[in-house]
Amino acid sequence: MLLIPCAIAALVLPPAPPVDRVVIVSVDGLRADALEGSSLGQLPAFGRLLQGPHTLNARCDPDISVTLPNHVGMVTGRMMLGPSGHAYELNTLPLAPAAGGLVRPSPSRYIASCFDVAHDAGLSTAAIASKLKFTLFAQTWGDEYGAADADPRGGDNGRNKIDTFTFAPDMPRVTDAVIDALDTLDAPDTPDTPDTRPDDATRGLVFAHYALPDSVGHTTGWTTEPNQPWMASVKAVDDELGRLLTAIDTDPKLNGRTAIVLTADHGGGVPFGTHTDQDALVNYRIPFIVWVDGTEHSCDLYATNSGVRADPGVDRATTHERVTAPIRNTDAGNAALQLLGLEPVPGSVYGGESLPLTVTPPATPPAVTSPAPVAPRAGS
Ligand SMILES: [Zn+2]
Repeated sequence: MLLIPCAIAALVLPPAPPVDRVVIVSVDGLRADALEGSSLGQLPAFGRLLQGPHTLNARCDPDISVTLPNHVGMVTGRMMLGPSGHAYELNTLPLAPAAGGLVRPSPSRYIASCFDVAHDAGLSTAAIASKLKFTLFAQTWGDEYGAADADPRGGDNGRNKIDTFTFAPDMPRVTDAVIDALDTLDAPDTPDTPDTRPDDATRGLVFAHYALPDSVGHTTGWTTEPNQPWMASVKAVDDELGRLLTAIDTDPKLNGRTAIVLTADHGGGVPFGTHTDQDALVNYRIPFIVWVDGTEHSCDLYATNSGVRADPGVDRATTHERVTAPIRNTDAGNAALQLLGLEPVPGSVYGGESLPLTVTPPATPPAVTSPAPVAPRAGS
């Protein structure tokens, strides 16, 4: 196979920028085509984020296109199935931990997350979700069931890998909680626990989940035409992202030192009013966007990672073999860790050692290559 010149140049990348904070943003049910064509003119915040490295042809988990298993994949770097899979298939409120409500393929097999790596290294962590079933995160990586600190850096930071877990059922409260988390990352775990992380406590990882496009899609369908309810829900997300970007722009300690990794758990539209058909392009095609500080060069992540990933065109892409693997939402957690200068999640696949993804933007504008065309398919 011939390597295209821009890919060779892009393999020589500068060190990671000095990012202190990363926000992983998941927009539930965000089809990638919402960010294409004339729609983008109505979405200025998404437009800013697309100034960074990105692809609008990423994939959700190949075997399931519903919320919770895909979010587990995002934070663990694993697909659901296979020997290294996270094996969490339920999409309902989790059971009690003792009854199996944990991300564990077997009772004795711990599955680490990006929260583990960041927290063990001494960084602060927060998760804000607008669906209650995300309490799975707090259960799995909380005080009782989280693993012992595996990283000597920053002392013993305990088993609770998510310092602050917030359920915020509406989008403005999600944004408020994200901004608050970014502003207060240096808070110690508990008042009784001395903060032994003076150097890293103001660095942190925040996960934020916006649910509105999914709930509107279930009610009125994933209608991508302008002025339809579903696109209005995407515009509402854009408004919230705009508030977040303004907060970053106007706070000197955040500006230039805060990155965003945005993706989706799945798209939607097939069958009408849902997204359960994992073979439908509109369900499995999602965006994957990295924004560092707005000054980076926009580039196609498939072009800058052509030695290890391949644009799947319109295919569902079930493989995760090196070179033929697509970029997936399962890359999000390790992308965030990479931007923070941390190592990948232990045992992870996507963004891990066996299937790396470089998300730092190139120092010089890459040659522009056209991504493989994505044919529209019925189901909006
Ligand atoms: Zn849904």
